Parts: sequence; C-alpha cells; structure tokens
Amino acid sequence: MKRIAVVGASLAGVRAAQELRAQGYDGGVVLIGDEPHLPYDRPPLSKAFLAGTASRESLDLLDTGDLASLALDFRLGVRATGLEPGNRRILLSDGGSVHADGVVIATGGRARTLPGFAGAHTLRTVDDALALRSSLVPGVRVVIVGAGFIGAEVASTCRSLGLDVVVLEALAAPLTSVLGPALAAVCARLHLEHGTDLRCGVSATGMDAAGVHLADGSLVPADVVVVGAGMTPATDWLAGSGLKVGNGVHTDAGLVTELPQVVAVGDVARYGGQRHEHWTNASEQAPVAVANLLTGHTSRTYTPSGYVWSDQYSGTLQLAGHPRQDDSLSFVDGDPSSASFVATWQRDGEIVGVFALNNAKVFNRLRRQALRRPAIV
Ligand SMILES: Cc1cc2nc3c(=O)[nH]c(=O)nc-3n(C[C@H](O)[C@H](O)[C@H](O)COP(=O)(O)OP(=O)(O)OC[C@H]3O[C@@H](n4cnc5c(N)ncnc54)[C@H](O)[C@@H]3O)c2cc1C
Repeated sequence: MKRIAVVGASLAGVRAAQELRAQGYDGGVVLIGDEPHLPYDRPPLSKAFLAGTASRESLDLLDTGDLASLALDFRLGVRATGLEPGNRRILLSDGGSVHADGVVIATGGRARTLPGFAGAHTLRTVDDALALRSSLVPGVRVVIVGAGFIGAEVASTCRSLGLDVVVLEALAAPLTSVLGPALAAVCARLHLEHGTDLRCGVSATGMDAAGVHLADGSLVPADVVVVGAGMTPATDWLAGSGLKVGNGVHTDAGLVTELPQVVAVGDVARYGGQRHEHWTNASEQAPVAVANLLTGHTSRTYTPSGYVWSDQYSGTLQLAGHPRQDDSLSFVDGDPSSASFVATWQRDGEIVGVFALNNAKVFNRLRRQALRRPAIV
C-alpha cells in the first residue's frame, strides 16, 4: 500500500499511526481530523484540565520527537465527508479528497445532546472543556443531567472548585447498568459524602434561564447546566460507502470491515457486536487492526481487557473484565462502606470481573485472572 489514511486524529487514530510505523509500514500516512488541534487526550477534560490544574500542553498525545519520527501528513480542521472505496478516495469538507489504498476509521463519537436542553454544556472536546471551565465562576449553581462517568467526574471537579452541584439521574443509582446495584450505591455514597445533591429516579424534561425542569413539574435552579448523556458514534460520513454502520462501524473480531482495506478502531468500532467507549480499548485495538490491514486479511483477533478507570472525588474507581448482571459479586478486600475495597464478580467458580475503589495493588493482581474469559456480548 502506498498510502494509508487514518480518519479521526485522536487517541485511536494516533495509536494506529504509531502502530503502522512500529509494524514497518514506510508509505504515506495521512491523519485527517475535523478538530483544528493536534491530537490530545480526553480523560483530563473532566478532571484536572477542567479544574484548571493541568495545562493545555499536558494533554498532547504527540511530542515534537513523535511528530518528526512518525512523518504524518496532517489534515486538521477538515472533516471527512465521504468514503468511496471503489475509487480509493476519501472526500473532505474543504472540497478536496485524499487517495488512500488503506483506511483506518477512528472517528470516535460526539457528545449526545437532549431535546429541550439548548444552551446546556456537553463535554467531549477540549473546546467544550474550555467553554465549561469559563462558566464555572464562583457562586454559580451547577446542574448536571446524567450521573454516568463523565457526569460524575464533572460533579466531582465542580465540588472541588467549591460550587453547589445537583446531579439528576433517571436510574435508581448512578452507573447501575454498568456496575450493578451494590457498587452503584458506593458511587452514590461518594457524591453524597462530598456534598453533591444527587437526585436519582428523576426525569429532566428541559431547561430555561431559571434552571432545569423535571417531569413532576418542579424546577431545579441552575446557572450552568451540563448534559452527560453519553455519545453517538461518528459514522454519518460513511453513508453511501457500502460499509455496514449502526451504533458504530461493524467489523469482524479482527476490527476489519467488509472491505479488507478498511479497518475501524476506538470508540467507533463495533466488533463482533460490541463497542466500548474507554481509553484502554481505544489504545489497545491498534496493533490488531493495523496487522490485519497490512496483511490484507484477519490474521489476528482482538480481546478486550474491559479496563476502565474513573476519578470521582476522593476515589479512583477501576473496573476490568466483562461481568454480567447475573454474576455473583463478593467483596474480597475491604467492604463497600470503606474508603478502599476490591470486589470480584464470579461465574462458574472463575473471576470474570474486578472492581476496586482506591486499591490498585489488589485490583491489578486480580485483574489478570479476570482476563481469562472472552468478552460477553
Ligand atoms: C471528558 C472525557 C473524559 C474521559 N475520561 C475517561 C476515563 O477516565 N477513563 C477511560 O477509560 N476513558 C475516558 N474517556 C473515554 C476516552 O477518552 C475515549 O474512549 C477515547 O477518547 C476514544 O478515542 P477515539 O480516538 O476512539 O475517539 P475520539 O476521542 O472521540 O476521537 C475521534 C476524533 O475523530 C474526529 N472526527 C469525527 N468524525 C470525523 C470526520 N468525519 N472527519 C474527521 N474527523 C472526525 C473527532 O472530532 C475526534 O477528534 C473520557 C472521555 C471524555 C470525553
């Protein structure tokens, strides 16, 4: 292949570009990104960068040495608007196009918005984080719709800035669908212990200048509203390409699409029916996808570790493995009321998932055991 285009200039795209070079590819690599910035890391956007304690430079995924050695042809601030596999061409929003023999799709996703919440902040990009940060001035009342990972981290950061925070969550407890009720109760405890007004089982219907309206007719006064409602995979530009999309770009277990010269990685990749929206997954897929792209067929398959971390208040939460709701949960080090503990999920006598609050040491030991089982779709 003379030239490979990587579409999406963020974590998964950068890892793919690095992996192309690591696996000996010395042809042209074009990195197309619709944000005007060089690739940067997102996890600090809801944590230290939002708090103002991490610099903009600390987010950069590539330093000057990387930029020189990778020899990438950057097309930044320009959106891919179409893929024409027959012509080996990617169409761009500036009217131009890129000819490519191979394509890595790494377009991640966009923050989901909610009807009735025009004017609310969302948080996916560094520009979103800068806009939100500038509104977090002393005395503002912050209302966050959604107590998922990002909603919880924004709440935590806002409390560290001394702001009043209300979190509105439709479920009975935060992250119940991911962690199950016992660990969701721990997440709720963290909010409450740190002075966040967490209201679960409520339905936010819209907002205006006064605040956020709930389905029961009440109003939660707000100066700043943040919607943390997850993300939507960025696949719109692939309409008409012939690739199968729908909740991501469909691939086989080796991250290869129906076309052997097109692979997908990161938050946008839906491989074998599953899609993950976590940093480690986006980082670890590149070696497999790139190997399969360069060999022209699926020679390797991807096994996700299911590793996720989240920093909320005084807690570092870590999760690994692929637990199901019907797996049995037990606390193996500490108990859920303590500031530090480890829990495991078991199935048929084997550990299939590990969760830790502030206990990386035991977590890492048990995590290796949790990886023995493949992901559950
Ligand atoms: C605020 C925040 C905090 C997070 N914290 C954690 C954490 O603590 N732990 C954890 O495990 N994970 C965390 N994550 C998730 C992690 O950052 C993502 O899993 C990771 O960024 C996914 O990388 P990606 O490259 O697949 O997609 P993205 O990071 O979404 O990047 C995709 C890029 O492609 C661009 N793009 C989209 N469409 C096009 C197009 N048509 N043409 C050109 N470019 C396009 C996008 O603008 C974007 O720059 C966090 C995410 C956010 C937003």
